[in-house]
Amino acid sequence: ARPGEDAEVIVRFDGATKTFVTGKGKGRREVTAVDDVTLNIRRGEIYGVIGYSGAGKSTLVRMINGLEPATSGEIEVDGRRVDGRTEEQLAPIRRDIGMIFQQFNLFTSRTVAGNVEYPLIRAGWSKDKRKARVAELLQFVGLSERAGNYPEQLSGGQKQRVGIARALAAQPKILLADESTSALDPETTQEVLNLLRRANREFGITVVLITHEMDVVRSIADRVAVMDSGRVVEEGATAQVFSAP
Ligand code: ADP
Ligand code: ADP
Repeated sequence: ARPGEDAEVIVRFDGATKTFVTGKGKGRREVTAVDDVTLNIRRGEIYGVIGYSGAGKSTLVRMINGLEPATSGEIEVDGRRVDGRTEEQLAPIRRDIGMIFQQFNLFTSRTVAGNVEYPLIRAGWSKDKRKARVAELLQFVGLSERAGNYPEQLSGGQKQRVGIARALAAQPKILLADESTSALDPETTQEVLNLLRRANREFGITVVLITHEMDVVRSIADRVAVMDSGRVVEEGATAQVFSAP
């Protein structure tokens, strides 16, 4: 069963706003990328954020791990305030959050296994535990045979599977996926979505997925926020938001 109405909130936005200021003097511009957003993401759900390019999706999702500090409003992750925190205070919150990207962002000078091991080194896991965990993750994403390869030797879909394994390595509670299938063909997109579904079901991880592709949201998200010009213009169960009026 999917998380219901009474499920616990894991990410809370309350009147959150992010304004970017660029340029100086006459060239000064202000862009409100995220404009007074209030929403709740429930523990264990797959939450989609959809909207056209420039709608504010990336900024919204980067505010969850404090990569973009809020200009005003409140953000809470698993009971801890994110807004107004220092980098040092954000560190333990970030350990609970994994992230995957459109362009995969793998370390090109590290092997597949080395990429997946990296967050475990940072999190202070012992060598034996790292080895076992990397093997387990490569099996989960179906890349055990590729452990010793470098990213450039992999297809796009394989690279994203490494990205997923790396993001899941240190057992985060939340996985942020920023246009994680946009560089992939339809078949490979389905493979990646299946992995995200399995991570959600098997590990109970909350997935927040940004996309501009309606089909992706429809096929995977329990609930969805539709963004336009920094605002959430619709929010709710995916089937309801996208059902004909
Ligand atoms: P989306 O992910 O929906 O494409 P973004 O969150 O990337 O939207 O961008 C929302 C708006 O904020 C856009 O107008 C974009 O140009 C602006 N923006 C995003 N990041 C920055 C930045 N670092 N500096 C200035 N403007 C930015
Ligand atoms: P247990 O706590 O009994 O090991 P779990 O259901 O917590 O059972 O975990 C089962 C397996 O899934 C373990 O091998 C664990 O490493 C892995 N796992 C648990 N949570 C996550 C997560 N958030 N991301 C990736 N893997 C996870």
